[in-house]
Amino acid sequence: METYVQKLHKGIEILKKAGVPEPELDAWYLFSECFQITRAEYFLKQTEKIEETDVQKKTWEQYLKRRSEREPLQYILGTQEFMGFSFFVNPSVLIPRQDTEILVEKALSVLNPGDRVLDMCTGSGCILLSLAKMKKLGRAVGVDISPEAIQTAGKNAEYLQADAEFILSDLFDQMDRRDRFQVIVSNPPYITEEERKELMPEVAEHEPGLALFGGEDGLYFYRRMIREAGNFLTEGGSLLVEIGCRQAEAVQKMFQENGYEKIEVIQDLAGLDRVVAGTYFSGR
Ligand code: GLN
Repeated sequence: METYVQKLHKGIEILKKAGVPEPELDAWYLFSECFQITRAEYFLKQTEKIEETDVQKKTWEQYLKRRSEREPLQYILGTQEFMGFSFFVNPSVLIPRQDTEILVEKALSVLNPGDRVLDMCTGSGCILLSLAKMKKLGRAVGVDISPEAIQTAGKNAEYLQADAEFILSDLFDQMDRRDRFQVIVSNPPYITEEERKELMPEVAEHEPGLALFGGEDGLYFYRRMIREAGNFLTEGGSLLVEIGCRQAEAVQKMFQENGYEKIEVIQDLAGLDRVVAGTYFSGR
């Protein structure tokens, strides 16, 4: 007979052998989901015989196998928290990062009620939908090049009961040229070729390359986006982008060359450059 504690500990051992960085924590999350058990219930029942259905037995094995292959916990469980909201995630979207909350907070500070907001490269929709939940927006539009991402973002909007539209487009290509937004936010792919080699297997082998890599120097999407964004901003509107911690100077320069003023670089909680923001004036 196998007890709860034995079952969980076998799982921890399997993850440990596979080199998973936090085997105890991950095994617990998977265990809790698979057996639908809270921490308190576990402590009460740990030495009792585990009552498992055939489905749970199989699911537990599957979970451990997937995590041993370094699939991110979030893809296995299917969700990630961001800004206090729960988002569905799957291998077609990036897992929302805590760093990106800096971008959302900065956007909240420039947004006025009724503003129209565009989120370029929306992925799971985590940025746009957090904003839509926290501010009364006039319009919330998310753009992505991936149909699967658009579908995931739509599902998240529905689940969170947020009012948002999604457009399948390579940056601004399919957008209505008459549209103007007070705020454009974006967390585009920005990892460089050099950084690619240092990624953890969870990221390199499981997250979508399409959402990660920004060309040799990581700046490909900033170049294209910052050149065009002004055509979709109102006079005095804001552009806010997340950046890699070594990209502030280059991205700031692109803002300067394309009509932006009051350019700011904002640091994350680790003190690293994380967001560039500016106000657009067409100079007409
Ligand atoms: N906007 C999404 C996020 O921040 C996706 C970003 C991306 O695909 N690069 O998670």
